[in-house]
Amino acid sequence: MKLGYLPLVLHLAPAKTSGIEVCPNRTKFCTAVCLNLAGRGGMGVTRVMTSEERARVNEIQQARLNRTLMFRRDPDLFYELLERDIRAAIDAARTLRFVGTKCGKPIFEPRTPDDPELSVCVRLNGTSDIVWERERPQIFERFPNVIFYDYTKVPNRFDRPPNYFLTYSWNEQKVALDRSGSYFAHRVNTAVVFSTARGERLPSAWGPKGRGRRPVIDGDEYDMRFLDPEGVYVGLRAKGWARDPEVADGFTVWLGGEAENPPLALADFDGGDLFADLDDAFGHIDWTKGG
Ligand code: SF4
Repeated sequence: MKLGYLPLVLHLAPAKTSGIEVCPNRTKFCTAVCLNLAGRGGMGVTRVMTSEERARVNEIQQARLNRTLMFRRDPDLFYELLERDIRAAIDAARTLRFVGTKCGKPIFEPRTPDDPELSVCVRLNGTSDIVWERERPQIFERFPNVIFYDYTKVPNRFDRPPNYFLTYSWNEQKVALDRSGSYFAHRVNTAVVFSTARGERLPSAWGPKGRGRRPVIDGDEYDMRFLDPEGVYVGLRAKGWARDPEVADGFTVWLGGEAENPPLALADFDGGDLFADLDDAFGHIDWTKGG
């Protein structure tokens, strides 16, 4: 793997689709455009179905529902399986090397002595927004050499373990302005979904009206947000339902052309080189075991 990381993403049934709320600060529009229905997880399902209805027609949705129910009904087993999978990834990282991707999934071969060892990084909130540092602080202590990272809409998550990194998620609510500002003051970036189409360039700088502008980095080039420079907006291209103005109005930032977003001088911004060598087809391991 070019960056030397083996990423794991835990997907739960988002919002309250399982009957259990796992996104305490979700908004109307983020719930509507949630990536839970992207890719194979969206095959045969609709936005208005409950998790149970989705689980009947889509095994990925079934696995997410099972995990979410286990998370609340049998937390001992949930955390046992979660830790087992992280340990398995740590073992795999010692013995495997990344050779490429197929259908968005990484492919590994046995590692030779010349290959660098991979580092495991974990996103616990692939499709949820649980405050894990309060919910299960032990997980960060048990794996001190694993980097955990998430996007969040929950405000004021400033007191976190040193191996847990966050990126605030911009959204249509007015409070996002102040929350984003508070997070920037605590060295946490903000991710923004732009209407920019796949293959097109994101704006080089952006800022909400009345607030300062900051550089925008291309957040689609890879997912390991803990590698991002500080003080930037992480630009993401709208995908799926986020491209539909009727569904995502207010959530996606609709760009009106470069005149509205003139480039900012980037003389002091040195994050660009970090991304020069990245693989566009980067994928994730998905916990698809039903549990
Ligand atoms: S908070 Fe995140 S995971 Fe939850 S519904 Fe919104 S976009 Fe989906």
